Amino acid sequence: MASLLHRSPQSTCEFRFYEELGDFLAPARRKRSFLHAFDGTPSVKDRIESLGVPHTEVDLILVDGEPVPFSHRLTGGERVAVYPMFERFELGEANRLRPAPLREPRFVLDVHLGRLASYLRLLGFDTLYRNDYEDDELERISRAQHRILLSRDTGLLKRSAVTHGAFLHATDPRRQLREVLDRFQLDSRVAPFTRCARCNGKVEALDMMSMAQPPDEHDPDRDHPDERDPPPGEPERRDPDPGEPERRDPRRTPPTGDPDSPPDIRDPTPPKPEKQGRNDVPANVLSGHGATLSRCGDCGQIYWPGSHLARLRQRLAEVGVSI
Ligand SMILES: [Zn+2]
Repeated sequence: MASLLHRSPQSTCEFRFYEELGDFLAPARRKRSFLHAFDGTPSVKDRIESLGVPHTEVDLILVDGEPVPFSHRLTGGERVAVYPMFERFELGEANRLRPAPLREPRFVLDVHLGRLASYLRLLGFDTLYRNDYEDDELERISRAQHRILLSRDTGLLKRSAVTHGAFLHATDPRRQLREVLDRFQLDSRVAPFTRCARCNGKVEALDMMSMAQPPDEHDPDRDHPDERDPPPGEPERRDPDPGEPERRDPRRTPPTGDPDSPPDIRDPTPPKPEKQGRNDVPANVLSGHGATLSRCGDCGQIYWPGSHLARLRQRLAEVGVSI
């Protein structure tokens, strides 16, 4: 230990970051080793983040060929190799740094990812999103609710309280969706149309016995003739895929609290009576899709397989998602 006391104040290590971790580095440092100077004996996590890489993106660190935890202290002269999530390695699972995968993948998204949030919900994933979440709130929700924080903000992902997070390299929402499905191996968990794109509530098959008499001439396609490329829709938009938002019409409030309506055994929280006024469905839709209507148990949004569905399927197929 005496030698540590007399070391020069600055030390250097040789760093090498692999694969997509290079995206976080200055171009001259990508795909090659480089020297990095530091004072004292910092943790390897501290140095990695100082070089720009959030800890959430790192899955394995080798120092002189040996796997180390984030807390490993550097003293100078080491060779440090840093690997991302999917850089499979013969050392096996025991040495990986990521916490155990969350059993049920759930997400909270930063304020710039509204369209990705809609896509994730459409595929059935529990996804919290608001366009006014502050960073502190995102961190708190992620930690308290064990949700994976998705962001393109490296500063947010460097927060030490964020244990489950992921940086999205893509800017296109559908490519972001592909990244999320790949990184968390979610393809087999896709359950389309089980969650509300607008509010994240559970979507359930509609009990037709409780439907009000359908209203008159609302044709969603006629009302939105110019929807050439409707995104899955940020919540404030009026065109979430699939289906169309129904039109609220207070004059046509359906019967609520119908004692003949059986309780929905799949949802412990029955729809709130005051929100059932959203049952208005265009007559042609009701007649054509009556058997396939479904409704969000939280916000009352009605869904049906309208003309949006084919376009949505096409857009998702382009990133390898079939629904
Ligand atoms: Zn909803």
